[in-house]
Amino acid sequence: MARKSRTKTPIAEQAPNIRKSNFEEVCLGYTVEEGMEEAVRCLQCKNAPCIANCPVMIDIPGFILAIKDGNMEEAAEILGKYSNLPAICGRVCPQEKQCEEVCKLGMAKNFEPVAIGKLERLVADWALENKDFSKAIQSDTPKIGKIAVIGSGPSGLTVAGDLAKLNYEVTVFEALHEPGGVLTYGIPEFRLPKRIVKKEIESIEALGVKIETNAIIGKTITMDEIIEEFDACYIAVGAGTPNFMGITGTSLNGVYSSSEYLTRINLMHSYEFPKYDTPIKQSKNVVVIGGGNVAMDAARSAKRLGAENVSIVYRRSLEELPARIEEYHHSVEEDIQYYWLTNPVEYLDDGTGNLSGVKCIQMELGEPDDSGRRRPVPIENSEFIIEADTVIEAIGQGSNKVLLSTFPELKLNKWGYIEADPKTGITSIPGVFAGGDIVTGAATVILAMGAGKVAAVEIDKYVKNEKQTPVTTNV
Ligand code: FAD
Ligand code: SF4
Repeated sequence: MARKSRTKTPIAEQAPNIRKSNFEEVCLGYTVEEGMEEAVRCLQCKNAPCIANCPVMIDIPGFILAIKDGNMEEAAEILGKYSNLPAICGRVCPQEKQCEEVCKLGMAKNFEPVAIGKLERLVADWALENKDFSKAIQSDTPKIGKIAVIGSGPSGLTVAGDLAKLNYEVTVFEALHEPGGVLTYGIPEFRLPKRIVKKEIESIEALGVKIETNAIIGKTITMDEIIEEFDACYIAVGAGTPNFMGITGTSLNGVYSSSEYLTRINLMHSYEFPKYDTPIKQSKNVVVIGGGNVAMDAARSAKRLGAENVSIVYRRSLEELPARIEEYHHSVEEDIQYYWLTNPVEYLDDGTGNLSGVKCIQMELGEPDDSGRRRPVPIENSEFIIEADTVIEAIGQGSNKVLLSTFPELKLNKWGYIEADPKTGITSIPGVFAGGDIVTGAATVILAMGAGKVAAVEIDKYVKNEKQTPVTTNV
């Protein structure tokens, strides 16, 4: 242990004063040499806890050992066995709460865990550069069956990739004009470049997966048609419907949901207007409501669009902040201001229907609520005003309803999400499986992928079983 470096191998990043006015990626990634230096820190634990804490059970010591030996090809092979989207996970997974949280090296006094996420990113980026995915193995043997996947976010892409590898004919239906779900329309370029998302999607298409965009299941194609044409289907339509505070002034010009704000920027390229034809407001004072990754992304995007003052208003304190800590640190470096223990109570009208400010109230933390976190309670007579021409509400999303509203046979839970077994993806209807945010509520990329992985196994069992069962007819 004494010879191991206590801290993670430093990684190059764009300087805060430069990156806060461009949309290019903040973290520049390890070189192979830096990765090898970091890989030496891994203890190669038996019963490695990092594996058990990874929702897709990646052989972490295995791929790190290959990096240490300078064998990137082998590292990529190992990673590819477990994840269809490693370059994405290496960038956006909350490793600090999963594999790195339980890393044995990080448990030792004054030692940081191995930089597992950054090593995963290194290997995945190396593979995207150096491997020819167009030569992915596609079997010539007849396909076992036809599967429809509805939604092309990380959950849908994972199930599609795994089923294609099991020799199924898979079609992914996506409502938008680009595949990727939140990876494409939600997470900004400076955290997850779209060229990386595109390349990983291409590697899934190379397995034989067909992706049909502009296909809204429930509108352009019905669920009856899907059930008729396919042997089984997997619903992964996500949780993209924005929630609103519902306070006075919500309809003023300048009040956005984070979904609209980020979709305009990411999917519609509004930051390149007029080259792309979707504009976005040029703001001076921006207030973002919320404390998750979505709030960080909205605030940091607003800064990059040229806003002078960008603040995040969060009703709890830093200790409870749900966003990734790395994103919080990056936001502070980029001059995002924080109002802790604060909640908006009204959006103020400048007299012409435009937003002029946010009336807020200070909060204190009371007894724990159902989530186990201490409930924020307003402090009487503590109201104050923040000047603002733009407000972005990032207070969570609900289930996507377009498909569900046309498919009443499918059982939902009391929050409007699909009732599906988390270990199998089985729903109330035989042959219809579901997973990702539409089952769990807004969660993480890797959990959505994990749901796709278990469902692929279960769909395979279901189809094989159905095909073996002799059809009985009444004579
Ligand atoms: P989604 O990614 O939502 O994909 C669902 C897809 O289904 C969409 O493309 C949608 O258009 C499509 N669809 C919906 N209805 C239909 C229909 N009727 N027919 C056809 N297609 C349909 N997680 C992390 O782990 N790390 C992060 O840093 C992180 N940052 C985030 C930042 C933002 C701004 C947001 C919004 C989320 C973030 N998340 C993050 C959460 C993560 O992205 C989600 O948990 C994950 O994308 C869920 O995957 P999914 O496949 O279930 O759904
Ligand atoms: Fe390496 Fe940490 Fe995993 Fe042990 S727990 S194998 S040190 S990454």
